[in-house]
Order: sequence, then C-alpha cells, then structure tokens
Amino acid sequence: MNKSTIVGYPRIGVNRELKFAVESYFKGNIDSNELFSTGKKLRDEYWSKQKESGLDIIPSNDFSYYDNMLDMAFLLNIIPQKYKDLGLSPLDTYFAMARGYQNNSKDIRALPMKKWFNTNYHYIVPEIDQNTIFSINDTKPFDLYRESKELNIETKPVIIGIFTFLKLSNLKGNTTFEHCLNKLANIYIDILDKFQQEGIKYLQIDEPILVTDLTEYEIELFKNVYDKILNKKYSFKTLLQTYFGDIRDIYENLQNLKFNGIGLDFVEGKKNLTLLQKYGFPDNKILIAGIVNGKNIWRNDYKHSIQLMNNIGKYIDTNKIYISTSCSLLHVPYTVKPEGHIDDKNIGKVDNLINMSEYIESLSFAEEKLNELSEIKELLKCKDYEKQSKYIKNQDILKRKRQNPLCYNKEIRTNINNLKPEDFTRKDSLEFRKKVQNNTFKLPLLPTTTIGSFPQTHEIKKLRKDLRGNTITKENYENQIMEKIKEVLKLQEDIGLDVLVHGEYERADMVEYFGRLLDGFLFTKNGWVQSYGTRAVKPPIIYGDVKRTAPMTLDWIKFAQDQTDKPVKGMLTGPITILNWSFPREDLDLKQIAYQIGLAIGEEVLDLESEGIKIIQIDEAALREKLPLRTKDWHKKYLDWAISAFRLTNSKVKSETQIHTHMCYSEFSSIVQEIKDMDADVYSIEAARSDFSILDFLKNNNFKSQIGPGIYDIHSPRIPSIEELEKSIKIMLDKIDCDKLWINPDCGLKTRGIDEVKKSLIDMVLATKNIRKKLN
Ligand code: GLN
Ligand code: ZN
Repeated sequence: MNKSTIVGYPRIGVNRELKFAVESYFKGNIDSNELFSTGKKLRDEYWSKQKESGLDIIPSNDFSYYDNMLDMAFLLNIIPQKYKDLGLSPLDTYFAMARGYQNNSKDIRALPMKKWFNTNYHYIVPEIDQNTIFSINDTKPFDLYRESKELNIETKPVIIGIFTFLKLSNLKGNTTFEHCLNKLANIYIDILDKFQQEGIKYLQIDEPILVTDLTEYEIELFKNVYDKILNKKYSFKTLLQTYFGDIRDIYENLQNLKFNGIGLDFVEGKKNLTLLQKYGFPDNKILIAGIVNGKNIWRNDYKHSIQLMNNIGKYIDTNKIYISTSCSLLHVPYTVKPEGHIDDKNIGKVDNLINMSEYIESLSFAEEKLNELSEIKELLKCKDYEKQSKYIKNQDILKRKRQNPLCYNKEIRTNINNLKPEDFTRKDSLEFRKKVQNNTFKLPLLPTTTIGSFPQTHEIKKLRKDLRGNTITKENYENQIMEKIKEVLKLQEDIGLDVLVHGEYERADMVEYFGRLLDGFLFTKNGWVQSYGTRAVKPPIIYGDVKRTAPMTLDWIKFAQDQTDKPVKGMLTGPITILNWSFPREDLDLKQIAYQIGLAIGEEVLDLESEGIKIIQIDEAALREKLPLRTKDWHKKYLDWAISAFRLTNSKVKSETQIHTHMCYSEFSSIVQEIKDMDADVYSIEAARSDFSILDFLKNNNFKSQIGPGIYDIHSPRIPSIEELEKSIKIMLDKIDCDKLWINPDCGLKTRGIDEVKKSLIDMVLATKNIRKKLN
C-alpha cells in the first residue's frame, strides 16, 4: 500500500499572519515571545490540518520566520562577521542578515536575495569567507521536531542538502567549493547525529540542484560527500529530495548512494519516468513520487496520476512508493475556500456567472492538494477505481472545465494559427528606423527619461482603496488621477527630462492592471504566495483565451500627451512578464498563451500609435525569470517563443514609432543575442548594481540598439552625487557610442519617496547636461 507525504507546506499564514507578526516585531510592536507564539500557532494549525487529511509523513522545519536558506546558514554558523559585530540577540542577528540593520551609528546592508530556481520565491544568499567557522549554531530543526512530537505528530524534518546549499552560497576570498564541502560535511554529520538522538523516523534532504546541468566532476564530488555524510548507520530513513525537473545527469549514480529514498518530480521532470524505465530503481530504496503539482493551482487529473503510478509501479514494489507533491507547496496559496465567488471585479467582465464559478471547482491550492493526495492514495487501493465516486467527481469537474466556453475563443485561435513571419518582424531595419526617429524626435544627445512609475504615495493608494470601497465615484477617482498626471508631467518638465512618462498612478501592479482588463484572467481574494521574507503576492490565474475587449491605457496616455509638447511614453507590460507572473492554464502551451497576450498588447500598441503616441515602452521586467534550468532547453523550451511573443506586440508599427523595452535584473550576459533579437529601438536595463559589466557583453556582441543602462540603483534610498553620476556616464560612454546612450534610473520609481526622486532626477539631468557640454 502506498504512503503519502509532501515536500513542504506554505507558512506565511492563510491571512498572512506570519508576515504581520514579523513586521510588527520589526516595528517593535511585539516582542520575540509573541512572534514565536504566532509561529507555534501556525505550525500547530498546519500540522493538524495535514494529519487530518490523512497524510502519512508530515514535514517539519519547512517553517521559517524568513527563509529556509537563511535558516540553514544560521544553523551552520555561516554568519558574516559584520552581523556578529552588531552584538544583537540571535534572532535580531538573523533578521539583520535578512534585511540589513540601521541604527544611529551603524549601517549594515542585508545579504543579497536571489530567485529560487525557476520560481518567484527569493532566497537569501549565504556568504562564506575564510573567517567562517562551520558549527551547529541553532536548534530550530530539533526544537520543531520535538514540538510536533508534543502534539503527538511524528514529523519528517527537512533540511537543505550540502550540495545545493553550497552551490547557491556566495564563496568569497580564497575559499573553495571543495574545501567548504569537506569541512561542512562534518557539520552535516553532527546534524544527523543529533537527529538520531531525537529519534526521528525520516529526514528529508533537499538537493534541487540535481535537476540542473552537472559536470562529471560535480557528480564525483556529490557522491563522495554523501558517502562521507551517510557513512554511519542511522536508525532513521534518509530521503534525498529533488524537485523542479529531472535528474538525468546523476540518476544512475544515485543508485549506489546510501540514501534510503529518492524523491523525484514527475510533473516538471517528465524525463524522470524515462530514466526509471531505462535504468530501473534500486530495490533497497523508497521512491517518493511527486505527482501532484506543487507549483500550479489546478486540480489534479486522477486519471493521469493513477496511470502514472501504474507505470511507475512496474519498476518498484508499491509498498516502496510514497506519493507526494512535485515540490513544496510553498509556491501555491493556502486554500480555495474563501474564494467562494471569486473577486467581484472579474465577474463584471463575463456574462456567464455559472461558467465562472465552475473555474473555482477546478482550482486546487495547498489544502486541496492534501486532499488530492489522500484521495489518490485511496483510489490506488481499488481495482475498480474508475467506479469510485471520488474518481468520477474528479473527472466530471475536469470535463466541465474543458467544455467551458470561456476558455476557448475561436477568433483568437484562428488569429494565432494564421500568424506569419511578417507578424513578428518590423518592416524596416533598426538602422533605418533610427534615422527616421532621429528626424522625428530631434532629442538631444544622451536623452534623459525614467522607467515609468513615480512614487505611489499614500494618497494614491487611498484613492484606489476608496474606489474599491465605493466611497468615491469612478469619475471622481479618474479626475484625481488626472490631476496627479498633470503634476508629474509638470515636475518632469521642470526637471528638464527629455522623454516623459505619465507616472502609472492608475496601476497598483504592472501585471494585475492589464490582467483585470483582459479576458481570460481570474483574480483570487486571498491567494497569497510568499515571494520573499515578509512579502507575499497574489498572482493572477490565466484560465481562458486572452483577449482585449477595449483599450486599456489609451485614455490615460492620450490625456498625458495632451498636457505637454515633449513626447510621453505609452507604457505597457509585455506578454512574457504578464505570463511569468501569473499561474498559467495547463491545457494550452505556454507559447500559445504568450502569443495570445502578445496579440492583445499589440492591439493596444496600434491604438496608442494611431492616437499620436510616438514612443511606446513595453516592459519585459520578468523576461529572464523563467529561463529553463538546463541550458539545453533555453531556446526551444523558452526563448524562441518568448522573444517572438514580444516581437508580436510591435511588428506593425510605423518606422517613426519608437519601441522601448525595460528589463530588470542584470544577468543578461548569457542571452545578449536573444535580447538583441527582440529588436526594440531602445532598451533600458538594470545595470547600476552590477558595475555596468553587462556593457562589455553588449559591446562584444555588437549591440546596435540604443540603450539606457540604469545609472543609479532605485532599490535603495541612497541619493547619488552629481560627480558619481557623471562618472557613471563616462564609464558608459567608454563602452557605448554617445549617439546610442540614454540616461535613466534603473527601474520604476514607485517604491521611492517623492523628495528622494526629485533630488535624484534633478542631479541626473544636471550630470547629463555637464557631460553633453563636454561632448559638444
Ligand atoms: N514601468 C514599470 C515601472 O516603472 C517597470 C517596473 C519593473 O520593471 N518592475 O514601475
Ligand atoms: Zn525594472
């Protein structure tokens, strides 16, 4: 008989209780005891929930007050000296690493954050240098195990494996990977020994790095280090857990390692099944089969899962297969329950409420996924599973979803089918366009601009809240937003910027704004997913074919352009960013979805152009985020269609219409060619934090478009001096021809204070003018 388990559970709280508790602690409104008791309460709740659902093996230590990588660093005493020197309590030292520490005399920056594999979750990057002394510095994993025991719940502690941990850490100075691996292995052994004393039954060791490309040498290191760590005989079972893909490089080698179980993801790692078929599975190990998607929010298809399990069962004794989620449920919201009628704002868009509520029954968040595991487990016991009511109900729901007319729009499908190469290509070459545009705009050398948003003040947020709560009318709201647009245009004119923006005051979020206006998107009331630390986001759900039913930005941009003689940029979010920051449907290729969004945004582009907007910026902030984990898959599985979807948005514009795009994160060096292939006229990218190293790559790759490598970091409240700004411009001019360089901040200004923004922009324009004088 199969057992069931999960890789991990969300912890931010159904109503974001943990977020609010941690933030209250930061503000000094509650003390550490109160914070800990909130943590304990949340753990009690979700452990009980898991137990009630019939889950056989319940994880612990998946809980964190901020981040699991940070927890691991803290456990291993990987705490850079500057944080230790603050002389704070352990908890405050931990939080100082997470978010920096400012006090009258002290100003220490936080450790950097990076995206966790191909998810939108960000982890804290541990920092190791020659002064780091590895040791056990914390008791959390052991305490939490004991805590669960006290509740009469046997749990499986979860730790991040040594290899993944070190690969994701920042090794500084003359520390080497091999050296750290060797040293740290001893501490991992100590940790296992301690677990042995606690009397645990299972230990989950997460090694998701195994789904990425590995060299022979790395495989050797992996084997050696685990031979060492698992050398002793423990009375608990060690489970090596992988997720987010298949483990093709190391599958064969794992068979001889001393783990008692291996966790494979059969959702994203389709190839894992082939590996199993080809190489078999050792009969002294357990297989944890990830068959319920931990990353998306759709109901599991029992027919598919049972067939998959039957397939797997050909190679392994059923008693040795534990069914599980493909990855931690951290990446999905808690529960569909409060969604009852879905956000009212959606309903206004569609005529058919019944169809809409059918989508709710086809959603499955963390709690519902627990139930799915328990039902699948039960069905697997029945020979005639197809006759069981749970199975029939599941298949009925999926059938209703498939047949729901809202997910299929014939016109859109035909349009996509009929796309031709010219729909992806601008008529004239970049060079020709540049000449025409130079004549149209007559911008000065080194044109100055911003990325789009201006500070979203309390006043603006309140306006939106009032509109939602119906305490002001739509007309009143719009008038006030128009006043703000006038103000911000005047401000930009006074500062002397060359290309202006309307400030994006009408948008709370660059994806949600468009999602709410397009057909095919659904918004949850409470579908929060942790993005990092205390931040949670509510990703939209793409359930059906995407269609634009009316212009989305036209009135705002036209209004803005009417206020000034300088060009105002039309401001749109690109298809890949909209897709990457949503939960996609699973019954259609990502490529098709991206093209549908691309066509919708393309219609807006043409409307803007025909109303006299001459510069249009299409943001692809999240372009790099979903790059596949294996380089081999980069093009076919992503870039080829992602770049095309962007091109689809603007292929039809006139030569004199200037297309801008903006991208966040500066790690573009490996995809410069693809960025070039986007064929935008002007790119603004985040570069200030990476010492402009991207510029060398652009130069070496013969990048011909105009470019604005953000000249200061908007993520920090620091205001750069004019000298510093001039210096940055000079560095850029070494690498970029002066007729191609734009001057702008490195991202939107919405999170900054207005005074900071004014001062920084004034200085940016002054610095530019000084350099211009020298150039002339
Ligand atoms: N245009 C958006 C803004 O200025 C871009 C934001 C982003 O890149 N994340 O806010
Ligand atoms: Zn940005």
